[in-house]
Formats: sequence, C-alpha cells, structure tokens
Amino acid sequence: MEDLTAYYKTERNQEWRVELRKSKKAKERTDIKRVSMPEADPHVRNKNSEEVNKGLPADKAVIEASRCLDCANPTCITGCPVGINIPKFIKYIEKEDFLNAAKVLKETNTLPAVCGRVCPQEKQCEEQCFYSLSLKKDPVAIGHLERFAADFEQHSGQMSVPEVGQPLGIKVAVIGSGPAGLACAGDLIKFGYDVTVYEALHELGGVLKYGIPEFRLPNSIVDVEIDNMKKMGVKFRKDVIIGKTLTIDDLRKQGYKAFFVGSGAGLPNFMNIPGENLNNIFSANEYLTRVNLMNAANNDYDTPVISGNLVAVIGGGNTAMDSVRTAKRLGAERAMIIYRRSREEMPARVEEVKHALEEDIEFMNLHSPVAYSGDKEGKVTSMRLQKMKLGEPDASGRRRPIPIEGSEFDVEVDTVVVSVGVSPNPLIPSALPELKVSDWGTIEVNPETMQSSVSDIFAGGDIVRGGATVILAMGDGRKAAAGIHKYVGHLVKAN
Ligand code: FAD
Ligand code: SF4
Repeated sequence: MEDLTAYYKTERNQEWRVELRKSKKAKERTDIKRVSMPEADPHVRNKNSEEVNKGLPADKAVIEASRCLDCANPTCITGCPVGINIPKFIKYIEKEDFLNAAKVLKETNTLPAVCGRVCPQEKQCEEQCFYSLSLKKDPVAIGHLERFAADFEQHSGQMSVPEVGQPLGIKVAVIGSGPAGLACAGDLIKFGYDVTVYEALHELGGVLKYGIPEFRLPNSIVDVEIDNMKKMGVKFRKDVIIGKTLTIDDLRKQGYKAFFVGSGAGLPNFMNIPGENLNNIFSANEYLTRVNLMNAANNDYDTPVISGNLVAVIGGGNTAMDSVRTAKRLGAERAMIIYRRSREEMPARVEEVKHALEEDIEFMNLHSPVAYSGDKEGKVTSMRLQKMKLGEPDASGRRRPIPIEGSEFDVEVDTVVVSVGVSPNPLIPSALPELKVSDWGTIEVNPETMQSSVSDIFAGGDIVRGGATVILAMGDGRKAAAGIHKYVGHLVKAN
C-alpha cells in the first residue's frame, strides 16, 4: 500500500488540490446528495444481455467527485485491498482531468473498469468513507467514479500504458488469467520481469469471462484491460493446463525462476441429495460457462444449453444471482431463487438482489431442496422443498437455518442450477505433492509474501482463500508480485 505520509505532505497539498478544497465549504459539499447510477429498464433488460448499469455521465461524475472532502486521513484507502489513492483520483475527476484520474487508478489497480463494476464497495472503501463512518450519510460513490474514469479512458482513444521497469532478464510464470494472475502479472512487468501468463481455457480473464455475465461485466471491457497488459509486455498463452500440458518442472527447465499460482476455485459443490444427478440439473459453473464462453444461449450453436421454463437456482450468492438472471434472459417464465436463510443473510451484493427483484425473479427464502424427481427420460420434473427457520448465529456469524419437520412440499421445475459454493481447483496441488494444502484443498501460504511451502511457488486468490472476491484476489496477486520480487532479488543483484 502507498506510503500515506508522503501523500499528506506533498500530493494533498499541491496548489490545485488546496484551491479545489477552498472552492466550496465542507458544509456545501456534505449537503450534496449522492448521485444514482442510471440503469436499463428492468422489463426490457431481463430479455437481453445489455449492461444493466449505464455509467455516470461526466456532469454527474464531477458533482459526485465534489462531495469528496479530500480528508487529511483518507480512511477510504484502508478499505481498499489494492490501496488505490482514492481522494487523488477523485480530485482529478472534480478538476475534470479524467485521464489523469484513470492514470492514478492504474498505478495500483490493473483492472479499474472491472473493479468499478463488480467490487463490493459497500463493504470496502465506501464503508470506510468519512461520510459513512462519521457523518452517517451516504458515502462518496467511489465505485461509480472508478468506473467512470476507467470507461472515459477506454473510450477516449488515449489509453495510457503504465510504465514498466528496465528488463531484468528473469522469467516468471503466472498460472491462471483470473484477477489474481492478472494483478500479479501487472506488477511483475512493472518490476521488469519477463512474464508469461498460462491459461487453461481458450479465453483470458478467469471468472471475469466465464462466470460473470455480459449484463454485469461485458467481455469487451475485460479484453481492453488485458490488451493494455499485452502492450506493457505481458505474454499470454491460452489452452495450456499447467500440471497436464506442461508441468512446473518443464517450466523450470525452460528457465522460469518463480511461479504464481492463481488457479481459482472452479470446482463446484453439490448438496448430495436424492435425484441430484438427474438431467437438466447443472452446477452454476457449468451453466454460466456454457452461456458466457460457449455461446450456448444460441440454439443454432453446437453446444446449446437448456433454456428452461421453470428454473430453480439453489443458493444466495453472486453466482446464484447471475445464474437466475441469466435463466430469465434465456426465456424462463418462472426463475426462482431457493435459499435456506432469510434475504438479510444472503451473501450476494445488495445491488444484485435489488436488480434481480426488479427483473421479476422470485425469491423463496427460508427454503431448502431435499430431493428431486424426474421423468422416464431421466429429466428433472420437480423438487421437494423443506421450510426452514432461523436459529442462533453459527461460526459465520449468520443465524443458522433449522429445518421445520413435516413442512415439505413439491414444486414443478424443468431446470435446476446448483450454486452452493465452490472448492479450490485441485489440479496444481495434486500435480505437486510437496505443496502444502489445507484440509479444504486451499494452498497454504505465508500471508505477508504469499510464498507457499515450495520456495519458488507463490499463490493467491481463490486457490488460497476458497471462493472470495475479485479485489481480494487482486490484492493477493499484488502481494505475491512483491514477494516474488524479494525472493528473486538475489538473482537481480547477481545480473
Ligand atoms: P479465477 O477467476 O477463477 O481464475 C482462475 C483461472 O485459472 C481460470 O481462468 C482457470 O481456467 C485457470 N486455471 C485453473 N487451473 C489452471 C491450470 N492448471 N493451468 C492453467 N490455468 C488454470 N467477486 C466480486 O468481487 N464481485 C462479483 O460481483 C463477483 N461475482 C461473481 C460471479 C460468479 C458467477 C462467480 C463464479 C464469482 C464471482 N465473484 C465475484 C468471485 C470472483 O470472481 C472470484 O473471487 C475471482 O475471480 C477469483 O480470482 P482468481 O484469479 O483467484 O481465480
Ligand atoms: Fe473522500 Fe470519503 Fe475518502 Fe474522505 S474518506 S477522502 S470523503 S472518499
């Protein structure tokens, strides 16, 4: 994270920043109401894949930026896992210098247009904003402003390419092109390493591409950010499964001196209840990957997905919301969320739940499936649900769901999507027995450096945390890049 002492002493006291602060009294700034994000009409958007959030227009972004008080102690920064200098980029927006705002974002965040769209800011930087902490008012819309600056730059035709260090002539391999791998590669290239990202799939971006749907994060946005990394000199190799196509030892022989494993948590969990292996019962991973990456929404394609009419999605996280909203867009008459706790306990972002409700998604909270039935062809036709009530809080701090005996009833379905969590991708750990893993299959690392039990292997993101968030994965990637830099430092000195 950036040294804030220097920030207080210099950047914050630049003449234009001081003038900007003087231009409005703090009271005038805090009286301005937070802007709202323009959105597509719910009953039109639930039939197509257009992006739901439309982005702030420039005039609204400048007004929102003027709410920021340029605090002497910017607590917002402490809530950002990649340590973006938040007041600095916001003040550039207030000054209408949008390109410099984007430049500040890219100093610490490789994927600002992505994070501006999918980060849970309400639980991170915005929760730590002075407005939330001390004024008990709506925080500065940091996420909306981040997206504004990044989109402005993408559309300006003047995309800046961050400076990279002098080539050190040392090869480092990054395994997996999700946010953890991209953030790590972005920092390694800035240090001057010769970086190659190996990706098992035919598309780059990890969950950003195969999981999160177009209506929340268009693929083109991810591609622009990846193209910028290519311009910085990062090399990408698709369709290579490390541990199968090539081993870590093969890469060592090719001269790689260190490795970052960001292979994610792509192994879906199931509930193991009767009937769960009937046809038309999918894992959310398969369902979303087929639609997002394999054009399965197109019936003329080789691998179409069942566009069910009565679709139940089991779960309450972001993945469940993405699946149920996808099912609605594929034409489902009834698209239902089945979740065992109440709406307040749902782990999905508040905004995703709001959008789903607006799009006529049905929520069956405090219900859990106990069995499925099917027809002669083995296709699911109904699910048996049991009602639940909430008990005392469990280890996660949320109230435990307790089944109500005798409350079972049947609901007709033709498609079910199971979204009850994921487990770490087992491929790399199983190919490297010397790598220390936890009982849950996550790679164990030193949390300061992200170094694993094998000294030249570092890891981060979902393979270390289990299913988490984009920005936490990116924070890990950045930390690991610093760890790798320290680890191979002796080679740099020797060169
Ligand atoms: P991943 O993004 O999973 O990337 C891992 C990559 O490694 C994949 O591309 C995989 O193909 C590749 N790989 C795996 N094994 C190998 C191998 N052996 N060789 C080569 N390549 C390999 N988080 C948010 O913050 N906000 C959201 O709104 C949000 N929504 C989500 C919606 C869905 C549907 C899902 C599934 C997750 C969502 N998340 C969200 C969580 C977030 O996307 C993940 O936490 C994040 O992507 C983890 O990043 P990662 O780089 O660790 O792994
Ligand atoms: Fe601006 Fe809020 Fe950060 Fe203060 S805490 S600098 S008001 S974004």
